Amino acid sequence: MRKPLVAGNWKMNGTSASNALLLGKILAQKNTFISAEVAIFPSAVYLQQVQMALQGSGLSWGTQNLSQFRQGAYTGEISAAMLKDFGCKYVLIGHSERRCLYAELDLDQNVLDNIVAEKYEMALSEGVTPILCIGETPEEHATGQTEEVVARLLDILINKNGAKALAQTVLAYEPVWAIGTGKSASPEWAQEVHSFMRERLAKHDPATAESIQILYGGSVKGDNAAPLFSMPDIDGGLVGGASLDAVEFVKICQAACS
Ligand code: PEP
Repeated sequence: MRKPLVAGNWKMNGTSASNALLLGKILAQKNTFISAEVAIFPSAVYLQQVQMALQGSGLSWGTQNLSQFRQGAYTGEISAAMLKDFGCKYVLIGHSERRCLYAELDLDQNVLDNIVAEKYEMALSEGVTPILCIGETPEEHATGQTEEVVARLLDILINKNGAKALAQTVLAYEPVWAIGTGKSASPEWAQEVHSFMRERLAKHDPATAESIQILYGGSVKGDNAAPLFSMPDIDGGLVGGASLDAVEFVKICQAACS
């Protein structure tokens, strides 16, 4: 039985004051979503604030990215050891906004997938659970390449570390065309892709395929979360915009419990 997980990606939003308010409202409702796991991903500068607020609450926290390098002259980067130092349980890796908006833009997809794989290894080496984001662009979607895109990264990870290593990982199917657009994938479409991912993994390691949590991300809101999460292979959500609104986010966490 897989425990549902709801991850709130705050992206580059928040102030100390607004974070405190938002966290207070979420924590006030935590008894209404006790059967789901909930994790918050603030901007890294607010990591300690979030750690202080959530410590002992049962909720978890993490960052939106990490370096593929262990330490040293990498200005502006955050190491896996630093995440561990701040009690992070999870880290987001390979989010499409990293892939599309930063240096990663010029890189070949395979190079990019390999960097994601290096970050994944780094997180695991410090005992931080990677939430690996995978999803097709609008162009890839329109040309029917979804399975190819999803399989490419899964295969790189399996070939590098073996399928068993994925047992310490969470996967997030995040179609790029659905992120921040207000246009979520239908529950049926998302289920089909999640089931494809699980089957691909099952060919290598059926036990890991059965136990791994696969989240859906892309315009999840309070009113579409329940039908998405009711699908057999959808184990919760990676939530961007709606995680900044306490009422919406709590509704999503509650939907993961039903
Ligand atoms: C995300 O940032 O991972 C995301 C899914 O964003 P949104 O929920 O706003 O589409």
